[in-house]
Amino acid sequence: MRAKGSLFVYSMAVTLMAAALAQQARSAKYSSETIPASGGDISVTPINHAMMMLQFGDKVIGVDPTGQGDYTDLPKADLILITDIHPDHMDRASIDKWKKSSTVIVAPAAVAKTITEAQVINNGEKKTIAGVEIEAVPMYNMERGPEPGKKFHDKGRGNGYILTLGGKRIYISGDTEAIPEIKALKNIDVAFVCMNLPYTMTAQEAADAVKAFKPKIVYPYHSRNTNTEEFAAALKGTSIDVRLRNWY
Ligand SMILES: [Zn+2]
Repeated sequence: MRAKGSLFVYSMAVTLMAAALAQQARSAKYSSETIPASGGDISVTPINHAMMMLQFGDKVIGVDPTGQGDYTDLPKADLILITDIHPDHMDRASIDKWKKSSTVIVAPAAVAKTITEAQVINNGEKKTIAGVEIEAVPMYNMERGPEPGKKFHDKGRGNGYILTLGGKRIYISGDTEAIPEIKALKNIDVAFVCMNLPYTMTAQEAADAVKAFKPKIVYPYHSRNTNTEEFAAALKGTSIDVRLRNWY
């Protein structure tokens, strides 16, 4: 009996330790930071360009994995969100590196043509997938495109996302200009907002959009060749916490 009892205590301890390790699994290569939420912290790990990892509880959420990411130390994703069809957002080989057998991939219909196992969610839809509330919101160009009459991002094709984790609403813009739908966002706690020409918007346009919906925290991302200091300067004097991080 005694041996059995101590074995039970031992196996409980191992289980608890494994759970603690799973919660704290972080990458050695990338730095993470935490944002307090109800039921625990949300961990944010900027990786590269549009690729990031969010963690809450035992859930690992990957966004837009590409070949620029180093997957060796990353915990496997439970959920992978893809925003659009371009190679800086959708990459079959990278999805395969980050996923495990139970990973759920969430994407707009245009992405699911290639990433055929993806669960489709389109602009305006809200679903709970893998235990996470996910809302797909518009991302598109109003003006900019490769030639007159064409846009880099057609309305309705790609998704921005709003995730709710521990009561916090996290907005991931995807590739977009400062469309009216962004300015009308409500109750966003954490926002990831793109800025780069010619594909999305300028730092100033992004700052103006952010001023309109007033997230508590904003991370400029998808900002290659863009002066994010200019974005931060444009938001000086507001209560918005601007977080410049090393995405490149
Ligand atoms: Zn992009």
